[in-house]
Amino acid sequence: VEQLHRLPLLDKMTAIAHQHELVVGTAPAGFGIASSGTTRAEVDLPLLNVWRNDVEIEANHSEETEPGWVLVSISVNHGLPGHPGPNELFVPWMYDRNSLAMLETVLSRPQPDGRRVTTLRISTGALKVFTTWLLERNKKPAEFGVQVIGTNSFRLSPFWRQLVSDAFGGALIVDNYSLSEIETCASECLFCGWHHWFGPPLAVEVLDLSTGKPSRNGTGRLVVTTLLPAGRSMPLIRYDTGDVVAVGPKCKAEDTYGIRFLGRLRRGLVVGHDYLLSPTIVQDVLESRADTERNDHPCVKLGIIQSREVGLPRWTVSLEKKVAHLRFEVRFDPLIYAAQARELELQVGGEILHLDKRLHHLIKTKKLEFDVSAVRAQSLIPPPDKHD
Ligand SMILES: [Zn+2]
Repeated sequence: VEQLHRLPLLDKMTAIAHQHELVVGTAPAGFGIASSGTTRAEVDLPLLNVWRNDVEIEANHSEETEPGWVLVSISVNHGLPGHPGPNELFVPWMYDRNSLAMLETVLSRPQPDGRRVTTLRISTGALKVFTTWLLERNKKPAEFGVQVIGTNSFRLSPFWRQLVSDAFGGALIVDNYSLSEIETCASECLFCGWHHWFGPPLAVEVLDLSTGKPSRNGTGRLVVTTLLPAGRSMPLIRYDTGDVVAVGPKCKAEDTYGIRFLGRLRRGLVVGHDYLLSPTIVQDVLESRADTERNDHPCVKLGIIQSREVGLPRWTVSLEKKVAHLRFEVRFDPLIYAAQARELELQVGGEILHLDKRLHHLIKTKKLEFDVSAVRAQSLIPPPDKHD
């Protein structure tokens, strides 16, 4: 593992273009688990299919010890990750009322053996839609008795995390960082709040955004290598996730370092060794406000739910001569309600600087300027974001 840095990085585009060469032996037609990959939307390339066999998946499946069932809602786009475990119920997630009705049915009554679902594993987009769908129908999710909700896909912003937890009667929300193409995920630690990796084992590197060497400031590009016993059918060596993470302090409970997902590299600003205006920070601030514009979620377009609030805020960042620009869309005309727009820009800028310590430092030391502009709804072209 110490010598890994001598090997070249494998970026997603190269992996997609050479995926058949990455397979050890022969893979069946249409093999494996597909990476939905937000990067794919920008290039006309096929999906990256990662081939893992059932033996590997079963060998790494841990026995559940919870008293109830775990309801696992999976996106059909992601393929089926192995077989359900002993206490897991798998239901598909689609942009369809049947998906929502199935989740409600399974949660609202005991299973044939008398046990209830007490834990839920679900993608963030599906959870937001499901919660909204229940609230719009005057249902009380708290009555399901769900105690723990583990989320995957993108991260719930603090605003939505509170809303969902309250709706489900104070259920504990646990965020997971994962990639479709890598079996290992990193789960939020209840002790330190950072994310720790579970098995199967990975070699993890965090590389400086400017030099590509191991990061010294604790922020960098996340590069992973699959290790035995998994990854035998299709090893991914120094696979560049395209994501930026921060490395936390050593956790006393787990005796290891945790990471925190900051966002996809292309969605924030790289300035020297720093990653500024990370999408997690911008999204957290914009999503907590009722006056910022949202993308249309497919379930809104299809008329399955009414609330546009489940969509993602719309913004762009750019660096133009020593000025970091943040442009975000609002739900009123900022030319007509100019005073309100200026007030909102000040508030959003202030909240972002409070969270983005590096940006704050660079502005204070006059190395950078920060421009925040509220713009009219649907006037920006943000990079494609995932809905689930
Ligand atoms: Zn920890």
